[in-house]
This record gives sequence, C-alpha cells and structure tokens, in this order.
Amino acid sequence: MSIPELTGIENGAGTLRIGAATLLRDVAADPMVRSAQPALAAAITEIASPAVRNMATIGGNLCIDTRCTYYDQGEMWRTAIGHCLKTTGDICWVAPGRPVCQAISAGDTAPILCALEATVRLVSVDGERVVPMESLYTEDGAASLTLGPGEILAEIIIDSGSQAEGRRAAFRKLRRRGSIDFAVLSVAAAVSVGDDGLVRQARIHLGAVAPRPLPATEASASLVGRVLDEESIVEAARLARAAAAPFDNTDFRPAWRRQMVEVETAAALREVLIQLP
Ligand SMILES: Cc1cc2nc3c(=O)[nH]c(=O)nc-3n(C[C@H](O)[C@H](O)[C@H](O)COP(=O)(O)OP(=O)(O)OC[C@H]3O[C@@H](n4cnc5c(N)ncnc54)[C@H](O)[C@@H]3O)c2cc1C
Repeated sequence: MSIPELTGIENGAGTLRIGAATLLRDVAADPMVRSAQPALAAAITEIASPAVRNMATIGGNLCIDTRCTYYDQGEMWRTAIGHCLKTTGDICWVAPGRPVCQAISAGDTAPILCALEATVRLVSVDGERVVPMESLYTEDGAASLTLGPGEILAEIIIDSGSQAEGRRAAFRKLRRRGSIDFAVLSVAAAVSVGDDGLVRQARIHLGAVAPRPLPATEASASLVGRVLDEESIVEAARLARAAAAPFDNTDFRPAWRRQMVEVETAAALREVLIQLP
C-alpha cells in the first residue's frame, strides 16, 4: 500500500485504471468510478463493513481465498474429518465425486469486474501481461488464482470505449446478514443496448456458486438481438439458474441458492432496464 505505482485511480480516453493497492473505500468514493462505473462502486459498498473497507485493497479483494463451510473450520475439526482437497486431504467433502475443490469464490469485486469486461495487469520480475479478469481464476477452489510465482496484480483496467458504449450494469448480493457478510450468491449483469433499442452485448456473472465467478453464458447470449424487457429478462434468468449448480458449502441450502439465482438475475436485469435511456 506504500508503493505509489500500485495505488490511485486514473480515467483517461475512456479507460478507467485502478491501482491494485487502492483501498476499497477510496474506489467506492471516487467520483470518476461513481460516474463511469456506478455498479462497481455499488458492489464495493456491499463488501463487509466500513472498517474493513477502510483497510482492504481492491487487489486483495480480487485475490482473497475461496470459502467453504468445511474449510472455514479449526484445525482440530478438519483433522477429525480427515481434511479435504483444500488442505491436506484427498476428498472434497461437499462434492466427493469431483476431482477438484469446490470452495467458492465469494469476493464481490470479481463478478462485477468480469461482467464489465475488465482486464488486469500482472507484474513480476520477468515482465508484465494484461489478461481478461476472468482468466485470473481457475475452476479449482484449492488453487483458485492463475498468478505465477512472484507475480502480483498491479492494476485493474476497465474500458468504457466503443464496445462498452451505452452499457449499464447492476450488482445483486444475497447474504444472511445485510450489515456484514460474504455473499452466498451474487449476480453481476452488464448490458449494452444499441441505438435500435436491441441488446448488443450482455454479460452475466454469478458469484459464490463456484470456485470462480461463473459466466452465465447461455443466459447472456439469450438477450443479444432482443429488446431488454420482462419477457427476455425472465428467459435469461431461467437460463442463469440452469447454469448454476451450487454445492452445500455455505450456510444456506444449495437448492434454495439455485432457485435464488433466477430471482436475483431477474432483479439485476430489471435494475439494468430502469437505467436505460
Ligand atoms: C469480517 C469480514 C467480512 C468480510 N466480508 C466480505 C464481503 O462481504 N465481501 C467481500 O468481497 N469480501 C469480504 N471480506 C474480505 C475482505 O474484503 C478482504 O479481506 C479484503 O478485500 C482483502 O483485502 P486486503 O487488501 O486486506 O488483502 P490481503 O488480506 O492482504 O490479501 C488477500 C490475499 O490476496 C493476496 N494479494 C493481496 N494483494 C495482492 C496483489 N496486489 N497481487 C497479488 N496478490 C495479492 C494476498 O497475498 C492474500 O493472499 C470480509 C473480510 C472480513 C474480515
């Protein structure tokens, strides 16, 4: 946080650049972020509590560990059940048939930044690379980041240029306690509508249902070329539900979380709809 090159926010030529060590509080309060990417600012204000947001960085939030009710226990408890894939065991207790750990990616900035098509600049002594936000994450909850050894996340880049023109976005979060809690489900939706009133591009990402932010690909595709209205929203929400298969690794039942994918996706798309000119 004391490395100046890693902190601060810039907005120029339709591109918003956020240093990875910028505090969540500062990102959410920044006038450029609030005007260019209000859904990101809104998502950040749902993270934890003011005290945490005053200390936590956006890069740290993007790189936080995955969560699971079996993993988030004391050492004695884990030893008693013989550990799991995320520690030293050889089984995923929530999905014993799965070859990789199913701990969930529950950070709030990742789904919305994926929906906004953000990229990240990764830096190491060997050089740097800019990759889509989605490629920062794997499908293995025990090794959920693709960062190489010695590589750090330096910057988040959000383009509001041609492809993103007219884009409106929304973020919804489901959790047990509204005042402070990790998501058991989140939905980020970003939709661009052309001058003809038809959807040009839609990106829906689901958080807290998989080891990475899960793209609801069919749901997103179903909106393209159509008017964003109640009919297309309901259809996309149904397809998003079909894409998600949450396991029993939060304190809510997976079947209910899956049902809520449809409810929250529809709610997110309705929030996008009311923002359209
Ligand atoms: C009580 C509580 C409630 C919370 N609720 C939520 C919530 O609702 N939603 C939510 O999203 N989060 C929540 N969090 C998580 C919180 O947002 C994160 O702890 C915080 O974002 C981490 O930021 P940090 O800067 O402290 O990172 P650190 O804790 O310092 O780092 C987290 C991880 O990322 C790595 N890392 C950090 N920066 C970089 C970088 N630039 N490049 C590469 N790796 C890096 C670190 O090595 C570490 O592995 C909660 C935390 C607490 C304590």
